[in-house]
Amino acid sequence: MVIVIGGGISGLACAGELNARGLDVELLDRGHKLGGRMASRVIRDSGTDYDGRVVDIGASYFTASDEKFLTVVEDWKARGLARGWTDAFHLASPQGVSGVRAGPMRYAAVGGLRSLLEDLAARLPSTTIRHHHTVESVSITGDQLSVDGRPADAVAICMPDPQARQLLNSEVPGLEATIEATSGVVWEPTLSVTAVFQSTCWIPFDGVFVNDDAVLTWIANDGSRRGDGAPVLVAHVNPVLAAGHLAEPTAVIPSVLAALKKILALSEQPIWVDIQRWTYARPLLARADECYLDDKTNIGVASDAWAGGPRVETAWLSGAALGQRLAERLAASS
Ligand SMILES: Cc1cc2nc3c(=O)[nH]c(=O)nc-3n(C[C@H](O)[C@H](O)[C@H](O)COP(=O)(O)OP(=O)(O)OC[C@H]3O[C@@H](n4cnc5c(N)ncnc54)[C@H](O)[C@@H]3O)c2cc1C
Repeated sequence: MVIVIGGGISGLACAGELNARGLDVELLDRGHKLGGRMASRVIRDSGTDYDGRVVDIGASYFTASDEKFLTVVEDWKARGLARGWTDAFHLASPQGVSGVRAGPMRYAAVGGLRSLLEDLAARLPSTTIRHHHTVESVSITGDQLSVDGRPADAVAICMPDPQARQLLNSEVPGLEATIEATSGVVWEPTLSVTAVFQSTCWIPFDGVFVNDDAVLTWIANDGSRRGDGAPVLVAHVNPVLAAGHLAEPTAVIPSVLAALKKILALSEQPIWVDIQRWTYARPLLARADECYLDDKTNIGVASDAWAGGPRVETAWLSGAALGQRLAERLAASS
């Protein structure tokens, strides 16, 4: 039995590779739903027409260039779960929108990005998923690995480094190298603000990269992203401002609304607003190695801090590589 900790895209990719190689998996996640940072929330009790509508409040979109990941994306597209959203975003300064920049195809999900992870989970043949399980510790006693006392032949830790380190007690012999492997990269926060409007009161756009602004870095048109045209925007807060408001995120909402109004020349105020905190939104540097597998123990680590991340695609690649390496390691030792 392999225990995978973390039900984001890296954990699900890891479980998929392990299952494909005949290994049973128990996947533990602290949330009540899978998804991690590919989070979609349902608007509730907003008093607007949009109750029940899904909004992407974590990752905005994903790109795909690796052949293996493209196969997964093509399958999602073929089944109507994902779609090519756009290859051009607007650019803005604090004073307003200033142009358009073309780039790679960005993909979105009709049902919200989290629906793609539910799809991955539903197609795992031999993985037991346990929600609401906040793992406290990974331990080694003699040769036996365990996760909160559950024995395991191998453990895959699939989450941001600071969260992974919380599971690794430096006083337990054998964990030193894994602690070292999850150290040294700084993770930055953000806050993600969802704003629902009465009607669309902005120029047509898909997304706006905001440069040199103390409040915002990015604005997504969630109606265009999801394809229903709903007047819903999601704005991401500058990490420096976010870092000072992690304890009380709602305090930044007035500044965010003022910045949105100025940058997009809005004529209306939103009729409903919500905010989500991301303490570890992204690593400021990602290692070139696809993942980490400890030489002596069967403990591995995957996330978007590997495989040249930080992106959805690289998190998938990292988790898949770890699953493959763990399976090879277990096969060689049996
Ligand atoms: C606001 C924001 C915007 C982004 N925008 C983009 C974008 O536009 N394009 C892009 O490609 N990427 C984007 N990203 C990055 C992308 O979301 C990540 O690269 C990817 O989702 C990482 O997946 P992961 O599985 O490695 O980690 P996560 O998604 O963080 O998954 C980790 C999982 O571990 C679980 N967990 C943590 N601690 C414990 C514990 N103790 N016990 C049990 N479970 C635990 C969590 O609940 C979570 O489900 C964005 C991220 C954020 C936050």
